[in-house]
Amino acid sequence: MRSAAADRGAVHRPPCRADAGPDDLETDVEEIQNSVYWHDTEPVEVGEPLDGDASCDICIVGGGYTGLWAAHFLAEAEPSARIRVLESHTVGSGASTANGGFVGLTAGKVLRRLLWYYGREKAAGVYRTGARSIIDIGRFCRRYDIDADFAMNGMLQVVTDRKQLARLELQVKRSERTGLRGSFKLMGRDEAQERIGSPQVLGALRTTGALVNPHRLVQGLARVVRGQGVDIHEHTPAVDVRRVGNGYRVSTPTGTVTANEVVLATNAWQHSFGQTHTKVMPVWNYLMVTEPLTDAQLDRVNWPGREGVSNSLSFAHAARLTSDNRVVWSGGRWYYFDGRDTGRGHIRNAAAFRDLRESFARFFPAWDDVRFSHAFGGPIGWSRTFIPQFGRLADGVVYGHGYTGNGLAPSHTGGKILRDLVLRRETEYTELAFVTVNQPTFAKGAIGDTGAHLFVWRQETGDRLPLMLPHQAALAPRAFFAGRAARKARAADTGR
Ligand SMILES: Cc1cc2nc3c(=O)[nH]c(=O)nc-3n(C[C@H](O)[C@H](O)[C@H](O)COP(=O)(O)OP(=O)(O)OC[C@H]3O[C@@H](n4cnc5c(N)ncnc54)[C@H](O)[C@@H]3O)c2cc1C
Repeated sequence: MRSAAADRGAVHRPPCRADAGPDDLETDVEEIQNSVYWHDTEPVEVGEPLDGDASCDICIVGGGYTGLWAAHFLAEAEPSARIRVLESHTVGSGASTANGGFVGLTAGKVLRRLLWYYGREKAAGVYRTGARSIIDIGRFCRRYDIDADFAMNGMLQVVTDRKQLARLELQVKRSERTGLRGSFKLMGRDEAQERIGSPQVLGALRTTGALVNPHRLVQGLARVVRGQGVDIHEHTPAVDVRRVGNGYRVSTPTGTVTANEVVLATNAWQHSFGQTHTKVMPVWNYLMVTEPLTDAQLDRVNWPGREGVSNSLSFAHAARLTSDNRVVWSGGRWYYFDGRDTGRGHIRNAAAFRDLRESFARFFPAWDDVRFSHAFGGPIGWSRTFIPQFGRLADGVVYGHGYTGNGLAPSHTGGKILRDLVLRRETEYTELAFVTVNQPTFAKGAIGDTGAHLFVWRQETGDRLPLMLPHQAALAPRAFFAGRAARKARAADTGR
C-alpha cells in the first residue's frame, strides 16, 4: 500500500469542468467559463487511487470539508490511529470548492427550526459552536499558513421587501429569546444602503461571519491532513460498505479497505448508500463570478466593510467580493434532478445562470457594464429539517451530512462531532442538536422526486407571495424529535 502523501504531485485541473458543448449556455457577447472560478486561484494536487487491498482503523468516505475535518480532528486526538480517506474524484470536488465561501452562522430559518424541534438550549448550543468554528477556521489557516484569504468581515442579512422585513424582525426576536450573544439592531434603509449600495435594500442586520477562498481552504486542509499521516486516496469511489465480523469492508473499483470504523461523509451523495439513501436529497445551487472590477466600477457601489451580503428569501441570493475584486453572486432557486441525479454535468445550468444574471442586475443596477467570467454550480445535501444530521446507523457506521447549503462552519463543528462519535466519547459535540436519530426522511423513487419538486415550487411561491406561509416544522410533532435526540443516536450501536 503506497502512501497518498508520498505519491501526490500531479498538478492539473480537476474533473469538475463540464464537458457538454456550449449550446445550452447563453453566453451573450461574453466568454463565460463553465468552470469553478476558485480553481484558477490554486492548482490542484492529486493523490493516487487506492491500489489493492488495505486496512486501517478508520476509513472515511468522502474528501470534502466533512471528511477532511473529521480526519484532521481524529488524527489530532489519536495520532497513532491509521486513517484513510476515500474520495471518488479529487478532494473538494463536490460542494466544498463549488461554493461562495461565506462562513456564517446557520441561517435564520434554521434557528426557527432548531427552536421548534429542540428548544432554546440546544439551539443556543448550535450557534455557540458555530461561532467558535468560524473563529477556529481562521486560526487553523493562520496556524498552518494556509493562504485562503480568510477575512472576518461579518455578514449583512438584508431585506428587499416587506415580508423579508417581517421575517428578519422575527429572527431578531428569536435570537434574543435564545440568548444569543451579539447586537441584533436592525438597520433602517439609509444606514443599510451605506453598508451595501443596492437600491433594493430596505434594511439589514449585521451578524458574525467570515469570507474565505473555499478551494484554497480545502486544499490546505488536505495538505495538513496528509501531513498528519492520513492516506487520501483520490479517484477512489466507495461502491459498497458492509459489516464483516467486528469491522467493515469498503469496496472500491481498485481494491478494498478493511476498517474498524467507517464514516460516511459524502453529503449530497449519501443517497448512494443503502443505509443513508433516504436521509439526504441532492439539490443543485449555482453561482456566477464577475471579472475583476475596476476602481471606477468599485466606487459606484457602497460596500466599505466588504461583508458577505445575503437577502432573506427562502431561496436567498448572496454577494461577496473576492480578494481580486470580483463579485460572487450566488444562490437563488434550487434545482432537483429526478432519480437523485448528482451527475457532474449539472455544474452548468443555463436557466439558473439566466436567473442569476437577472437578480444581479436588479440588486446592483450600477454595475450594468460588469461582465461575468465564470458560472458553475454544485450539489447541496438537503436534510428535511434543514438541520445537519450526525449519528450512528444501525450497523454502526458513523455519518454526517445535510448542511442544506450552509456547510462551511457547520462541517468544522461536524468534524469534531464525527471524531467524538467514532471515539465513542460523550462531549458537548455529541450533545448538539445535530446528533439525533428521529429525523424525518425523504421518500424513495418517483414519490421522492415529486416531493422534491413540490418543495422547490412551494419555496419559490412563498418567496413571491407577500405573506409568510406556515413552515413544515410547525406542523411536526415536536416532542418526537426533542425528547429522544442525542442519547438515542449514541445508543444506536449498543449491539456491537
Ligand atoms: C453553489 C453552492 C454554494 C454554496 N455556498 C456556500 C457558502 O457560501 N457557505 C456555506 O457555508 N456553504 C455553502 N454551500 C454548501 C457547502 O459547500 C457544503 O455544505 C459543504 O461543502 C459540504 O461539505 P461536505 O464535505 O459535506 O460535502 P462535499 O464537499 O460535497 O464532499 C463530499 C465528497 O464526497 C465525494 N464522494 C461522493 N460519493 C463518493 C463515494 N461513493 N466514494 C468516495 N467519495 C465520494 C464527492 O466527490 C465529494 O468530494 C454551497 C453549496 C453550493 C452547491
